[in-house]
Amino acid sequence: MATVVLVTKYWYGWHQEQTRKLFKKYKPTHVIHLAALVGGLYKNMKYKLTFLRDNIHINDNVLHTAYLTHTTKVISCLSTCVFPDKVTYPLDETKIHCGLPHESNFGYAHAKRMVDVQNHAYKEEFGCNFTSAIPTNIFGPHDNFDLEDSHVIPGLVHKCYLAKKHNTPFVVSGTGKPLRQFIYSYDLAKLFIWMLREYNDVEPVTLCVGEDEEVSIRKVADAIVEATGFQREYIFDTTRADGQFRKPASNKKLLRLIGGFEFTPFNQVLITIVFCQALDTTVKWFCENYDNAR
Ligand code: GDP
Repeated sequence: MATVVLVTKYWYGWHQEQTRKLFKKYKPTHVIHLAALVGGLYKNMKYKLTFLRDNIHINDNVLHTAYLTHTTKVISCLSTCVFPDKVTYPLDETKIHCGLPHESNFGYAHAKRMVDVQNHAYKEEFGCNFTSAIPTNIFGPHDNFDLEDSHVIPGLVHKCYLAKKHNTPFVVSGTGKPLRQFIYSYDLAKLFIWMLREYNDVEPVTLCVGEDEEVSIRKVADAIVEATGFQREYIFDTTRADGQFRKPASNKKLLRLIGGFEFTPFNQVLITIVFCQALDTTVKWFCENYDNAR
């Protein structure tokens, strides 16, 4: 029988002794490696060296412990920010190492690229079944809702919640023009389980909605305003960085392998209605769990 362990906590990845204890305790046959130092654009910009060092260290601990304990399979989580900044779009799995990542998150991006390098090396030298998944910008309940260090959706949900509660301005960072592909965390969880069961190649798979389903930050803010019931105008703080303008990724490989997948949809036509269905759940969770949310 398979024993699957999700290594999620930064702590378990960072401390070699803790990583080893965790593997000794659960004796996993399969591991989904999510332990990382993570954050949104502004946190990435502040802590480039820490993101680089901590993530290299975490990945080495988790992968090497998996190798030493003869773990059958490991899927590690990368991110579309690993892709080069200047490259032809759409991004796909063959382009990870084809140029420098965007300067705003080069620490995190280089550390995560090294996971792909390590996966190949573990396979070639020791025959390990290690691979990686590349999701786009994730949102959903239980996220990190920190006002400064989180990703855009949880950050704006929190800001909008406070603006509504205290009758203060709702301020969106940057120009609102950049485009992102979002994936609902529940969809992503299903895709990880599919990979765990069905996918046995070292090459990564991009887990995302179609490249034609990019959403502007302004649309995100509009949807959050609607989902939270915020009644006033909101403003953009254009003194703050926009980060990479866009990073559209292709899901062709995923769809070819999985044979079709129903994403919690938010396409151009249904954007307000459907995006808000997923978003409503997120907002509801956040409001109900305000005291305990990260
Ligand atoms: P990225 O997708 O890796 O760049 O990370 P984010 O989830 O942090 O998204 C960054 C984009 O959202 C940038 O264009 C930001 O200017 C914009 N943005 C607007 N408001 C916020 C906010 O409150 N937090 C974050 N993290 N980004 C914001």
